[in-house]
Amino acid sequence: MSTKKNRGYLGTALGCYCPRCREGKLFKNPIAVSPKRNLEMNKNCPVCGQATEIEVGFYYGTGYVSYALTVAISITTLVAWWILIGFSTEDSRFFIWMGTNAVLLIFLQPWIMRLSRSLWISWFVKFDPHWKENNASDVSERLNTEQAGNW
Ligand SMILES: [Zn+2]
Repeated sequence: MSTKKNRGYLGTALGCYCPRCREGKLFKNPIAVSPKRNLEMNKNCPVCGQATEIEVGFYYGTGYVSYALTVAISITTLVAWWILIGFSTEDSRFFIWMGTNAVLLIFLQPWIMRLSRSLWISWFVKFDPHWKENNASDVSERLNTEQAGNW
């Protein structure tokens, strides 16, 4: 078993940690408004050396993830609004929700972008509690065999 921190899958993905060792940070900078700065990643995990960009265009598919997150957040705020405030055909509460939700999504965008990448890499790189003993150079091979099995 791994020693100190016992970070689970969710904590790893939400906190944008390396999925392999669950200790190293994926991103270089604290969350930022500038997308370039916000999405600047460590080339390799500073702790275990796992590559964060496994192949060119690896994060190309994250558009779908951020879209799914956006939809999930909108449904959540819709339900929360429904319970707390309610909707009526006689006033514009629905449109106020739409506006509020849009503003919220704009504010959450930097976080959504990061989370999409963090989730994405967590689906390709398996947690390896014994990464110290295992050779870092077999990472790409491991990935290929796992992909071949899953796809
Ligand atoms: Zn790592």
